[in-house]
Amino acid sequence: RQHPLPLHILFLPFFAPGHLIPVVDMAAIFSARGARCTILTTPVNADIIRPAVDRANDSDCHGTDSPSPAVDIFVVPFPDVGLPPGMENLMFLTPAHGAECPLKFIQAVQLLREPFDRFMAANRPDAVVSDSFFSWSADAAAEHGVPRLVFLGSSVFARCCSETMLRTNPLETTTNPDDDPDDDARLVSLPGLPHRVQLRRSQMMDPRKRPAMWAFHKDNDAADQRSFGEVLNSFHELEPDYVEHFRTTLGRRAWLVGPVALASKDMAKRGRPDNTEAHVTEGCLRWMDRKPAGSVVYVSFGTFTSFSPAELRELARGLDLSGKDFVWVISSGTGTDGSEWMPEGFAELMARGDRGFIIRGWAPQTLILNHHALGGFMTHCGWNSALEAVSAGVPMVTWPRYADQFYNEKLIVEVLKVGVSIGAKDFASPLEGHEVIGGEVIAGSIGRLMGSGEEGDAVRKKAKDLSVKARSAMEKGGSSYGDFGRLMDELMARRSPGEDTTPL
Ligand code: UDP
Repeated sequence: RQHPLPLHILFLPFFAPGHLIPVVDMAAIFSARGARCTILTTPVNADIIRPAVDRANDSDCHGTDSPSPAVDIFVVPFPDVGLPPGMENLMFLTPAHGAECPLKFIQAVQLLREPFDRFMAANRPDAVVSDSFFSWSADAAAEHGVPRLVFLGSSVFARCCSETMLRTNPLETTTNPDDDPDDDARLVSLPGLPHRVQLRRSQMMDPRKRPAMWAFHKDNDAADQRSFGEVLNSFHELEPDYVEHFRTTLGRRAWLVGPVALASKDMAKRGRPDNTEAHVTEGCLRWMDRKPAGSVVYVSFGTFTSFSPAELRELARGLDLSGKDFVWVISSGTGTDGSEWMPEGFAELMARGDRGFIIRGWAPQTLILNHHALGGFMTHCGWNSALEAVSAGVPMVTWPRYADQFYNEKLIVEVLKVGVSIGAKDFASPLEGHEVIGGEVIAGSIGRLMGSGEEGDAVRKKAKDLSVKARSAMEKGGSSYGDFGRLMDELMARRSPGEDTTPL
């Protein structure tokens, strides 16, 4: 009798919580389906994910009889290129770090190839799941004869948009944008997609303004196309036209395995920095317990977005004006000194305790989204957040800032129709400034989403429908469950004879 050796998957996640969190969730799912997983990362990131990895190994669901842990972390030192301390996990990137930081970071990431090669030579896993940002891993994996699967943590819709953008560059014109004051307001179409997708020029990454970033994405895209395929944190029923477009028109091999967050038993602490203090979680949920169903708006912009004092002031005004109760996450580092931004009367409003609950630092997001009192989510449209909202059946006020967020907003508002746009116009990184959106506009958007009008009713119903579909996709017999199985079968079938079994 022969016993099949479990598949061994090496994960190479990018060092930012929005990239790490779904990878740890995904590793937990792979191991639950019988694979052995190793996550290659640096010491700071290893510390961040270790509690979640321990939980994945503790659960009795990994289904192998191997005595070794089902998910393992391979810790490598972060290359020294003169980054400020703490930069190893990009969580603390602020304007104070200076504009050269991201470039140094990218440079440092190239140097991870050496420990990667060492691991590959000693272990030869069955596949590498690499973040798209590590383009070097395409050739490195190929040299070891191991298939590379791309993971970026984007929607399929955003992948289709950015691919179209890179291939056709619809922003290319003969005029210099700096000479044309109306240029930023011009609508640009992304050709050939299943729906008419139009964005303002100012909402797109303009290669003429950002040549280094454009080159970075071009390089990643070329590496992705040389890879075995792509795993995506989405599900077929959410964006079927774009799955078809991605696979057939763009010719990409893709497996949709999400929403990966739904596979986790411990929603408060899945794959993430384990620093939601117990009293914050308890305090927040107890506060929400006293509120009527669907009455609270949750305001959070992910792990990377920072707001200027002027923006915070308007946001506080908007929340006050909306008349809705709110849970507001103010990420540590921004706006900690309230005197800089709090509008008049806001401190008193907060002191009353019944209108708002502010969390400074890390919030138990998935628990908040799944609380019955929640009625809406004001989000920057990071894909993890958006998909967590879809999974929980919560409609969104969309406030994109940069990266793939403007594409995700189009998907949420115009294709899925589970959100209301706040009308953000400028694509800008956390190191740059944003246009200040007024409190009245903010309050108006919350009112449209959570009020009793037709628009609110329609988005709420649509959001509930999608959450049912999200859950079934992950269950046995569901579309994501099936894609996962097909991916594992393909990887197993690629093994050469003799490699795949060991005598019992
Ligand atoms: N998150 C959280 N608590 C916080 C902030 C973020 O749990 O206080 C989680 C959130 O649930 C999501 C991830 O961090 O899983 C953020 O990823 P997303 O793609 O939404 O945004 P990014 O931070 O990458 O911009």
